[in-house]
Amino acid sequence: MKQHDLVVIGAGPGGYVAAIRAAQLGLNAACVEFERALGGTCLRIGCIPSKALLDSSRLYDEAVNGFASRGITVGKIGIDLPKMLAHKDQVVKGLTGGVDGLFRKNKVTRYYGRGRLDGPGRIVVDLADGGKEEIQAKHVIVATGSVPATLPNIDIDGELVTSSTEALSYPEIPGHLVVIGGGYIGLEMGTVWRRLGSKVTVLEYLDRILPLSDAEIAKEAEKIFRKQGLDIRLGVKVTGVKKNRKTVDVEVEGGETVRCDRVLMAVGRRPYTSGLGLETVGVETDRRGFVPVDERYRTAAEGVYAIGDVIGGAMLAHKAEEEGIACVERIVTGYGHVNYDAIPSVVYTEPEVAAVGKTEEELKADGVEYKKGTFPFVANGRAKAVGHTEGKVKILADAKTDRVLGVHIIGPHAGDLIAECAVAMEFGASSEDIARSCHAHPTLSEAVKEAALAVAGRAIHY
Ligand code: FAD
Ligand code: NAD
Repeated sequence: MKQHDLVVIGAGPGGYVAAIRAAQLGLNAACVEFERALGGTCLRIGCIPSKALLDSSRLYDEAVNGFASRGITVGKIGIDLPKMLAHKDQVVKGLTGGVDGLFRKNKVTRYYGRGRLDGPGRIVVDLADGGKEEIQAKHVIVATGSVPATLPNIDIDGELVTSSTEALSYPEIPGHLVVIGGGYIGLEMGTVWRRLGSKVTVLEYLDRILPLSDAEIAKEAEKIFRKQGLDIRLGVKVTGVKKNRKTVDVEVEGGETVRCDRVLMAVGRRPYTSGLGLETVGVETDRRGFVPVDERYRTAAEGVYAIGDVIGGAMLAHKAEEEGIACVERIVTGYGHVNYDAIPSVVYTEPEVAAVGKTEEELKADGVEYKKGTFPFVANGRAKAVGHTEGKVKILADAKTDRVLGVHIIGPHAGDLIAECAVAMEFGASSEDIARSCHAHPTLSEAVKEAALAVAGRAIHY
């Protein structure tokens, strides 16, 4: 029987990072993954391929709709979809292969097969090429991630009714794509196919898009996305789908049906624990299928930990990574933690929507008194120069202490701008700290500085 100090089940951003950190700290570490390519949902069918397509479709959109206004004339612009998809696959191949390299460099043993717990300290791997491997480990980290959720009476067939996985590789540009769900995936993948020429209808159950984000920013995003051509319908309850030979009728409460060529189910993701043998160590999942853990990522079973999407909370790659590192550092050094108040989130549309910390609605609900400073990109020199002036920065700070409690940005490169705000919050910065820090000119980051100045009513440029 093989022996390791620590075995991670699942090689997503939570799992592979945990395995590498464990090896760095001197443990004999291993990682079990049943997909040939390492990197999990994020690298194979999530963050990375979606961003490759978002970027390719943005380039196309700029060429068609943006170049002429800058005096750039080009000939006929076309789309070679197979080539665009091949570029995305190449990016994925490079990065997943990179994780193989990192495992070799750090001497992490990789098991290629499906892992399951088999009583305390024991893992059985059903190897991909047949046979079994039995492993003994002092510590086991469950990092098995999540899979697409669907609605009770809708089956994802992967053809007409699809998940994000298929939406990353549609072989043709759908004439009409109906997206069910106006969250991250609905808006990002909806944007990709809209830019490439599809009519895209987003059906959202709630009366707003991006349910957990700041309401003012979500409203502005909705307005901008509608103007770009996304047909967003709010307060719509989908009751089922009827598949025809080549089309689908999406049935909506009230009797209406929406006919389309493909459906993208984007109503969230659910934890993946099937066949994992949690019962062999006495771990029960919660009502929604998540693995319950304490603040040290310990499950109910001695020596068994869990991190990432499978434990719930924000289903984000960087949150999974932070948890993987904190979990391992706790095991080895006794220290390590994740500050859940400073985890940024980014929707990679154009403009991007980024946030860190509390929303205005959360502060109101918690009875926290706050001050607010906003600054529009239309008053930022760099935004003007690059022709992306939509959106704003909004900073929320404690009314008494001025400590930054939340930052919400919709605008160009919001996903990069939010990093400064997350660091500021980690250091317990006040809005005045940001306002008094020198920001290079002309940069988009000056909008962050100006929003911080605006908290005290002293923005200079607006
Ligand atoms: P996963 O990445 O899901 O990895 C779990 C791994 O475990 C998988 O590889 C799976 O094959 C393996 N596994 C499961 N069971 C077993 C078993 N029994 N034995 C062996 N292996 C097993 N997040 C962001 O932060 N930014 C983004 O831009 C972003 N974009 C996304 C776009 C899309 C289309 C999707 C679907 C998700 C996106 N996410 C994004 C979310 C992000 O992908 C997840 O939050 C992240 O991958 C979670 O990491 P994880 O390690 O917990 O799990
Ligand atoms: P989501 O939670 O972001 O959005 C789901 C949306 O579907 C919500 O707006 C919800 O109100 C709506 N919905 C739920 N039931 C519905 C119904 N019956 N009819 C119509 N709408 C309904 O989930 P997602 O977009 O599927 O993405 C899954 C997860 O993957 C996200 O939570 C996110 O954590 C992660 N992700 C992150 C990124 C990123 O960081 N840029 C990108 C893609 C995915």
